[in-house]
Amino acid sequence: MHVAGEPSFRESVDLMFNRAVALMDLSPGLENKIRVCNSTYTVRFGVRLRGKIETFTGYRSVHSEHMEPVKGGIRYAMSVNQDEVEALAALMTYKCALVETPFGGSKGGLCIDPRAWDEHELEQITRRFAYELIKRDLINPAQNVPAPDMGTGEREMAWIADQYARMNTTDINAKACVTGKPLSGGGIQGRVEATGRGVQYALREFFRHAEDAAKAGLSGDLDGKTVVVQGLGNVGYHAAKFLSEEDGAKIIAVIERDGGLVDHDGLDIEAIRQHLNISGGSVKGCPVGQYVEHGATLLELPCDILIPAAMEGVINLGNADRIQAPLIIEAANGPITFGADEILRKKGCVIIPDMYANAGGVTVSYFEWVKNLSHIRFGRMQRRAEEARHHLLVNELERLSADKGLGWTLNPGFKESYLRGAGELELVRSGLDDTMRTAYQAMREVWHGRGDVEDLRVAAYIVSISRVASTYRSKGL
Ligand code: GLU
Repeated sequence: MHVAGEPSFRESVDLMFNRAVALMDLSPGLENKIRVCNSTYTVRFGVRLRGKIETFTGYRSVHSEHMEPVKGGIRYAMSVNQDEVEALAALMTYKCALVETPFGGSKGGLCIDPRAWDEHELEQITRRFAYELIKRDLINPAQNVPAPDMGTGEREMAWIADQYARMNTTDINAKACVTGKPLSGGGIQGRVEATGRGVQYALREFFRHAEDAAKAGLSGDLDGKTVVVQGLGNVGYHAAKFLSEEDGAKIIAVIERDGGLVDHDGLDIEAIRQHLNISGGSVKGCPVGQYVEHGATLLELPCDILIPAAMEGVINLGNADRIQAPLIIEAANGPITFGADEILRKKGCVIIPDMYANAGGVTVSYFEWVKNLSHIRFGRMQRRAEEARHHLLVNELERLSADKGLGWTLNPGFKESYLRGAGELELVRSGLDDTMRTAYQAMREVWHGRGDVEDLRVAAYIVSISRVASTYRSKGL
């Protein structure tokens, strides 16, 4: 979505970056090196479908290789373009740095309407796109590891993993070439729900700090809070489901591409999801709530928390001044444009920024990648001997860290479940919870600790950019 008079998505990300670096003490050379996108590969390939050759355009953009592999999803949508892929790759760099997953930033996209093709056709197209990227090391366990994004999921990741394995028969780490795979294909439990789960953990952490909630004029916890969710895809659906089923939040409106549903007593998310599965993604005719044709107007509904979980630019110069939510959590990447961000901040709206709010996906992708590389089960160890070895390993790591003054300790919750031999899902969830808490603390310290940081977004950028900068400084350019 692009409103006249607004910068492009990539320019919007750069402008937000600039707001942060203005408060930092980086050399102009290093600042520019971090800001720019390293490379974008464009490929046009043909696939014979329905008796004729169809040409598709795809991209894989690498924003920063300060750490490798680089990481980021592959999006399937007609609106995919180079500017968007570069903006998303930049956000991956900052996101990974913020939650300390040891990756650089990347993103891919294919201009395609996935609904227009049958499953076997999509498989052909995906395998061909993957082939083009694998040939150029733009899919590779050590260099570039894609994952799902809008329009893709476990199925596409399984095709990509298989394509890589066929082209690299002697690579013992082949499975780690992509994350978000189905469990039976080397995936990890809890990856599908991870981004939505991360949104829930982020909000829980936010409300643990009464002082922060008060900045949005809110108090207490999530119980009874009214919520509007835009987009009931993988991210929005899981966030809405967990917040309503586990935290007592009331989802008063959901917005989909052909309208919205409203119920001030709270919507039944599971029932809506079932309707969407049958209707092919249309909320029209859904027996739950009241149907509203112009869904976008529901973004302007009075509520406690607004969760844009669809795509970039939905809150822009055209509607920002009418948004009433005092708290917005960016479950999507870039849902608020630079100009809208300014308007909302002036109104006193608190924004939990995308690079933190939706980092649950890449965090659990990291666990999956580690699981694939380690070749051992992530979670419960079956044999006593193995348990004992892991016990020793964990203690040894902490001792080494103490000796070297690294100040590194395993988070007590994660360590406890790891040593207890907890199952995979429990480990994934506790690891994700720890990650979301730790990253919030890092942002919060900057937000409250210095007099010149107005909002969480700038705080998040400052944390991320400092980490990327110190990696560059330590390894040399
Ligand atoms: N596409 C997701 C994102 O925007 C996940 C990326 C990943 O797991 O690598 O963060």
